[in-house]
Amino acid sequence: MTDLRVLSVASEAYPLIKTGGLADVAGALPLALAHEGIEMGTLLPGYPEVIGAMDKTVALALPESVTRMAGGHGRLLLGAVGGLWLLVLDIPHLYGRPGNPYLAPDGTDWPDNGLRFGVLSRMAAEIAMGCVAPWVPDLVHAHDWQAGLTPAYMAMAPGRHPPSIITIHNLAFAGKMPLTLGETLGLPDWMLGLDGAEFYGDLSLLKAGLRYADAITTVSPSYAAEILTPEWGMGLDGLLRARSHVLHGILNGIDIQAWNPSSDRLLAAAYDAGHVAARATNKASLQAMMALELNPQAPLFGLVSRLSWQKGVDVLMQALPALLECGGQLAVLGNGDAELVAAIRTAAAEHPGRIGCFIGYNEAVAHAVQGGCDALLVPSRFEPCGLTQLYALRYGAIPVVARVGGLADTVIDANVMALNAGVATGVQFAPVTPTALAAAITRTATLYNDKPVWARMQANAMSTDVSWRGPAREYARLYRSLVAA
Ligand code: ADP
Repeated sequence: MTDLRVLSVASEAYPLIKTGGLADVAGALPLALAHEGIEMGTLLPGYPEVIGAMDKTVALALPESVTRMAGGHGRLLLGAVGGLWLLVLDIPHLYGRPGNPYLAPDGTDWPDNGLRFGVLSRMAAEIAMGCVAPWVPDLVHAHDWQAGLTPAYMAMAPGRHPPSIITIHNLAFAGKMPLTLGETLGLPDWMLGLDGAEFYGDLSLLKAGLRYADAITTVSPSYAAEILTPEWGMGLDGLLRARSHVLHGILNGIDIQAWNPSSDRLLAAAYDAGHVAARATNKASLQAMMALELNPQAPLFGLVSRLSWQKGVDVLMQALPALLECGGQLAVLGNGDAELVAAIRTAAAEHPGRIGCFIGYNEAVAHAVQGGCDALLVPSRFEPCGLTQLYALRYGAIPVVARVGGLADTVIDANVMALNAGVATGVQFAPVTPTALAAAITRTATLYNDKPVWARMQANAMSTDVSWRGPAREYARLYRSLVAA
């Protein structure tokens, strides 16, 4: 039975359009919340990929405020795709661009991103205020800077409005725009000062959300604590400290249907916790795919990542001697910074058969790495939640993670006590330096060579609950407490 309606506002949602973890969350949460009696509608921009996936839509006229701000006409399409109930803002001159939702083909930000996502947020606020009656949400859940103005527009609206939440998926992306855009976006002067959305002389769409939402969540308890510090607060720690009484850390789950080793058609061999030996077939297949030596004994380390400073890929490059020293192999799937791509290509060329890479974004290869590598490396300098270590747990690939953010919260380090108690699921290291990562890689290789210990860790990893069940329950509890307040 549904007793609460929630509008989710996001700039991407799996499987329609995805550039990162936000899409996974926005795509999975509505389905998980349905079990908690919550009906979630998701407002998305009308990218061609989204509109192309919809059929049997109902089209509504846009509110005048949205048309005026957008500077042109459009429609609001209502429809369902694969269990998601969608409200899609079809304004072709703003969103009718295929490919990456934020970047032009030359890799630079679309110059009108402030307007594109401001209009999305304006639409969300209009829905919150009842413009799609009879579907009026009891609460609005905005995600990241792209939806950051939603709580601000709701705060501007006269009369009562439903409560709002903003979730920070990554505080590093503040949605900075020129302050002069404030007028185009219809923001009053009182919102454009230091106590509003002004951010070091610019306008931050994320800051607007953090300032005006009734509650703030981020995607792990540890990251919720880290972002209160000057080191990881990205200039917003002062505001976050002032609002820490409404800040909550709720871990992400993963889609356990899409990521299920026992039914994964993208693997050479499907397997479950009772048949991990079948991973050997996947390992051989991954080694072939990455042009690595077909050596079943070598500990095979994997990396599936955006190639960026955040993800510590440069640190990994410096720790490669330790990986090679202990007989390891490395399979990299990633794309991103040109310098890091070049460094990985060079390393692969210098160590043929030991280091392999697939540069690009490829879902099938991501599954092949998770199902075939022995250990998955996640050496992030900061990590709000991280999803790849959760996939790794489910696939019995032992996560080797930096002790930060969600990585610290989801992986049980194989220290002496955890090994004695038989509960270890992975390896943690700190600080994020080449030396500490090298030591973690060597420690992982030692564990790998102790077959009973390794088998126990794999079994523990695979039995970890990484589903959305627990997180959905926490979101539901928070929604209900806000609606009741
Ligand atoms: P972030 O959102 O910061 O990039 P997360 O770990 O939260 O990091 O989520 C990353 C998501 O993107 C995961 O689903 C991961 O499998 C996927 N991913 C990252 N790089 C690639 C790639 N090159 N090919 C396929 N999937 C990728």
